Amino acid sequence: MSVAVPILSLHQVEKTFAGHCAVDRVSLDVASGEVVAIIGPSGSGKSTLLRCINLLETPDSGTIAVAGQELDVSGTVSNRELTALRRRVGMVFQSFNLFPHMTVLRNISFSQERVLGRSRAEADERSMALLRRVGLEQKADSYPAKCSGGQQQRVAIARALALDPEVMLFDEPTSALDPELGLEVLAVMRQLADEGMTMIVVTHEIHFAATVADRLIVMADGNILEQGEPKAILDDPCHERTRSFLSAIKDR
Ligand code: ADP
Ligand code: MG
Repeated sequence: MSVAVPILSLHQVEKTFAGHCAVDRVSLDVASGEVVAIIGPSGSGKSTLLRCINLLETPDSGTIAVAGQELDVSGTVSNRELTALRRRVGMVFQSFNLFPHMTVLRNISFSQERVLGRSRAEADERSMALLRRVGLEQKADSYPAKCSGGQQQRVAIARALALDPEVMLFDEPTSALDPELGLEVLAVMRQLADEGMTMIVVTHEIHFAATVADRLIVMADGNILEQGEPKAILDDPCHERTRSFLSAIKDR
């Protein structure tokens, strides 16, 4: 039987901060079109793991491969390799991180011109198509400060999609939002998943994890504590630590 090359493959990725191991030799293969949700207590290394994947943090050791192309991340990574990786792996943060001095449209067009060499007209056309997809066409000429948090996060998703990534990483994309605004962001993410986007989503939205993710990973102390079919883990976790974490977030 031939096994398809994973779209993303981490091998023994490790990151230590001042002697504290934030990510402890994590290996992970993600199939094309797979949606992986990651949960785990604060400080368990979820953000550091995502940041290592697109090299916002330089791992101490390990390898990362996108579509079989391996990068020795602890060695010197050239700017060209870094740009290529960031283009293929988009990221959305808890805090949106839009450029405040640019309109919504410019926020989405900017990197298409810089990274992909698209003309302004081409970039704007693509940006408008993405804004329609996230339901925000009418906000094209607004500045981020004139958008709700949910709208800003949808713009951030459109901006990440503008480089045609093969994998999208989401780090608690709804944690900074009121619940109803979180729902509109989750709806956009659900649609992306339905369209076949490969996604890794750090989230405490258990309903999203249960209904959208193909696989749930529980992290603790920089390691993968357990992983598997989301409903199986949520209904009957193997580890007591998973059980207590789940009951803690249910009580919130
Ligand atoms: P999570 O996202 O699961 O809450 P993080 O990946 O943010 O966890 O953090 C994992 C551990 O690494 C924590 O102990 C945190 O304090 C530490 N850490 C994360 N980033 C840094 C940093 N830039 N400098 C020092 N320690 C860090
Ligand atoms: Mg985090």
